Amino acid sequence: MPNERTIPTIQYGVFSQRIHEQAAAHQRVIKAQLELTYRCNLHCRHCYTDPYNSKEFFPRELTLDEIHRLLDEMQQIGIVWLNLTGGDIFMHPQFFEIYETAYRKGFLLQLYTNGTLFTKASIERLQQMPPFTIDISCHSVTEASFDWFTQVPGSYRAFVRGLELLKESSLQFSLKTKAMNWNTDEMPAIRQFVASFGQEFGFTTSLSPRLNGDLSSLSYRIAPDTIIALNGDRAAADANEERCNTSADVFAPTTDRLYRCGCGTDTIHINAWGELGTCTLQYERRLSLRVYPLADAIEMLFREIRGLRYQGDSPCRTCDIHTFCDKKPSDARWECGAAEDPIPYDCDVALVRAQATLHETLIHPLRRAHKEIGTHHG
Ligand code: SF4
Ligand code: SF4
Repeated sequence: MPNERTIPTIQYGVFSQRIHEQAAAHQRVIKAQLELTYRCNLHCRHCYTDPYNSKEFFPRELTLDEIHRLLDEMQQIGIVWLNLTGGDIFMHPQFFEIYETAYRKGFLLQLYTNGTLFTKASIERLQQMPPFTIDISCHSVTEASFDWFTQVPGSYRAFVRGLELLKESSLQFSLKTKAMNWNTDEMPAIRQFVASFGQEFGFTTSLSPRLNGDLSSLSYRIAPDTIIALNGDRAAADANEERCNTSADVFAPTTDRLYRCGCGTDTIHINAWGELGTCTLQYERRLSLRVYPLADAIEMLFREIRGLRYQGDSPCRTCDIHTFCDKKPSDARWECGAAEDPIPYDCDVALVRAQATLHETLIHPLRRAHKEIGTHHG
């Protein structure tokens, strides 16, 4: 009988935990988000990248050679999970060349797309080198509303066609929903739609100003009370929230760090113009990867982000419900004038979340600014 050699395998959860623990112990970056392009076939009304989805900006985007160099650098520093996003990834004229290069380098690839551009051919090509996951936005399941929001007639039909193609394939995908004021009534229908693909429904609510500072995207914010009403408790309502603050602790000890989240630990973001940040919406400090090698840029940027502190007397500095809050400093700069400023909407949301969790009435963060820290009972 020939010698049988077995390749040891471990469960994904164990693998992931091990890599995260090692990254934390050795301060290593293991996750990257790369915006391939700001081009998109849709123009969603809340989209933060859409102002740069216009041909006068395309020459600023990373070239194919630059993207390949970045993939090499990411491999060298030990990135494990690589999220390719846009715009829409399929609008990049050399998407498959980039994708297949990244696949061969061994990254676990997560694709973000609006789902409207899938074809039989593109799905077959992905099946040859399957991504780890594909995340597709699903903010409406009503044709008129969907097309109104994307501002492209026919987009809903293309979305459904794309999902049907995906469903027939063996590719892993999930649907993600943003709850906004215009689609609140649709949540039960979206939940049902998501369940029809055998998936668990979850939604996020946070909206940000556009990358050029335009605040029109914020007009689609959902009312804070509605967030709670939609799911009844914070844990369920925030299943997929990309909150800046991710601590699960209630009334965590306060710190005067400007970024009290995971920014500057194990994740990088690279925008379509080759600027390095610590997350998608961190624009207080960016370094051009056209100027600095990736490893050097990470070291400089992370040191700076971790060192940023509140300097003034912003209520955020001592806010004891900040773990419930979605505030991002760059959003605050655009919306309120300074990165340190509180964002009143985020305060309202944090308050209702904290109250729903604790089943208590609390003092609004902007009214407790000068009270002693910890006096949260109203
Ligand atoms: S599909 Fe995505 S990138 Fe395109 S406009 Fe909508 S939100 Fe923006
Ligand atoms: S709840 Fe308001 S005061 Fe507290 S951290 Fe958030 S924005 Fe700042």
